[in-house]
Amino acid sequence: MEKQDRIKYLVDLLNKYAFHYYTLDDPLIEDSEYDVLYDELVNLEKETGLVLPNSPTNRVGGEVLSGFEKHDHLSNLYSLGKAQSKEEVKNWANKTIEFVENYNKNHVNKLPKVEFYVELKFDGLTVNLTYDNGYLVMATTRGNGTTGEVITSQVRTINSIPLKINDTRLMEIQGEGLMPISSLEKYNKTHEPKLKNARNAAAGALRNLDPQVTRKRNLDAYFYNVNYLEENGIDNQEQMMKFLSDNYFKLYPYEKHATSFEEISNYIDEIFVLRNKIDVLTDGVVIKVNDFKTREKLGYTNKFPRWAIAYKFEPERFTTVVKEVEWNVGRTGKVTPTALLEPVEIGNVTVKRATLNNIDDIERKQVRLNSEVFIRRSNDVIPEIMGVVNPEQEDTEEIEIPHNCPYCHSELFRDGVHIFCPNSMSCTPQLVKRMVHFASRNAMNIDGLSEKTLEVLLEKLDITSIEQIYDVRKEQLLQLEGFKQKKSQNLIDAIEKSKDVELANFIFALGIPEIGEKTSFELSQKYKTFENLRQAKFDELIQIEDIGNVIADEIVEFFHDETISKSIDSLLSKGIKIKNPENVEKKLDNLTFVLTGSLVNYSRKELTDKLSKLGAKVSSSVSKNTDYVVYGEKAGSKLTKAKDLGVKLMTEDELNSFLDNL
Ligand code: NAD
Repeated sequence: MEKQDRIKYLVDLLNKYAFHYYTLDDPLIEDSEYDVLYDELVNLEKETGLVLPNSPTNRVGGEVLSGFEKHDHLSNLYSLGKAQSKEEVKNWANKTIEFVENYNKNHVNKLPKVEFYVELKFDGLTVNLTYDNGYLVMATTRGNGTTGEVITSQVRTINSIPLKINDTRLMEIQGEGLMPISSLEKYNKTHEPKLKNARNAAAGALRNLDPQVTRKRNLDAYFYNVNYLEENGIDNQEQMMKFLSDNYFKLYPYEKHATSFEEISNYIDEIFVLRNKIDVLTDGVVIKVNDFKTREKLGYTNKFPRWAIAYKFEPERFTTVVKEVEWNVGRTGKVTPTALLEPVEIGNVTVKRATLNNIDDIERKQVRLNSEVFIRRSNDVIPEIMGVVNPEQEDTEEIEIPHNCPYCHSELFRDGVHIFCPNSMSCTPQLVKRMVHFASRNAMNIDGLSEKTLEVLLEKLDITSIEQIYDVRKEQLLQLEGFKQKKSQNLIDAIEKSKDVELANFIFALGIPEIGEKTSFELSQKYKTFENLRQAKFDELIQIEDIGNVIADEIVEFFHDETISKSIDSLLSKGIKIKNPENVEKKLDNLTFVLTGSLVNYSRKELTDKLSKLGAKVSSSVSKNTDYVVYGEKAGSKLTKAKDLGVKLMTEDELNSFLDNL
């Protein structure tokens, strides 16, 4: 698309999304998704110099709803310039410092050394309160910055807002109306439909024509600005906050002063951690120049003050195009879609594929071939498609849902949101993946049976079921490419050795749907022998922790399936000797461990399993409820926190002797 056309496309799209967000309080996309498109528009406008008259970059907020009375603010309410990265905050801070230095070189009346004021960026709805003669006479939304909607009765339902203050002058006070997260949770316990997020809940409540609806949401408000007060004698943000607090306005108890980017950066990190612990929804950090004379010199653009910037925390989103969809068969026969994307650089990696989960996901997210989509950046898992940029995009094509297995061509069947290949006997990818699972370390533990080797064995030795692995002979292996004496012997030995297996590992190896290692272990403890487990009853199963109705059903069904039963019998006939569990005493019951740093003798998972089997809980974060922190080299903040809280610390060696002495 030509740049001009893309600009027009983005302006129309963003205006549509802004209308749903600001005017209807019912956003169609996530804020971070809106921001990706908005930033693209800003960059294109900079590049081409073309700014359409209806561009959202020209204006503050949305339209004013007709159901409400209107009010012209005594002084304009602005939006905030945004920084998506710390680099942008750094540029802004340095530019501000430079501006003041230059100003001071050329003027006799100097500005003070720059001091920044760092606050939370509350994610709610601006409220602008007019006080006259000491009384709250009007409350409005920000609206388009010049004119807002009158919401006085709605705002009066917020108990923390003062209806009367000490100062009798005419003034307008700006703050943020919010729904505390605890109020949202409480509300959602007793109301349907549930509110999706605290920001929209607050906005929807304040812009509701019925104040009774507002009252039910239990809103709160924090204040950060005297937007209008003539000859007020206030010289900086600090004094302003004092003025607000003297007049009974509620301030959030977090404000920091900084004189450099480095200090700001530390506070950003602090707020990043803090925001998950507080009752107020925060989407970033606002950094303001403290001194008002400096603010006046820095001035405003048509939309933002130049003396402030908002750093937004990013669940980072990117856009790209779906070129194709690939369907893969898993070990349970589930056929899942993966989108092949137009490659996009995210961080330092090129992303070419993203998961689409299932067909329901495709339908719900309205993803089609050639759709422009949002993908979520993610460090350790395959990126996910979050949604389409524009459901009305032209030139897209429907994603064809396969009717037949892409490998064995059996007819697929649908169960809920998934589709399955029924051919569990001879659909090769299913069998390979089942066998990989069967041979894995915490199952039968057959060393050397990798996915690649299994593919070769299946093809060349005509293996069609798992138990046939126990019929493989050394002579057969020697015929295969890459199999010399040693490798063949090792594999034969590993297969033989795997016949001695603990009950829990055997249960896990069977690949019962939804049954992981932990549940396999619980089952082995409860039933003691495999024959007992095969007779397990639904009512007994649901007594086990972690097993609910669905899983209990799966287990019963699994062992009653005729084909499965036959293949289990056949497997057992190969000389499998199942070791029944001794009673494991839960010696660490009720103790909570946290592991941190790099461990030498165990992997994280091994140690977690070991401790869990003894009844301990292994948690990922340190709190005052943690009993022990086991630390290895390069342990960082968790160790520090444990020390601060006085939690008992153990090295790996100390843990080993602790376990030996149990
Ligand atoms: P903004 O709401 O992100 O920032 C400005 C506002 O921040 C101010 O008006 C004020 O109300 C608030 N604020 C919170 N804490 C503050 C503090 N300590 N000091 C000063 N102000 C504080 O900016 P905006 O331009 O009004 O709106 C843009 C936002 O709206 C973006 O986050 C965007 O993602 C979202 N949006 C989303 C959609 C969507 O479809 N999801 C559409 C349009 C806009």
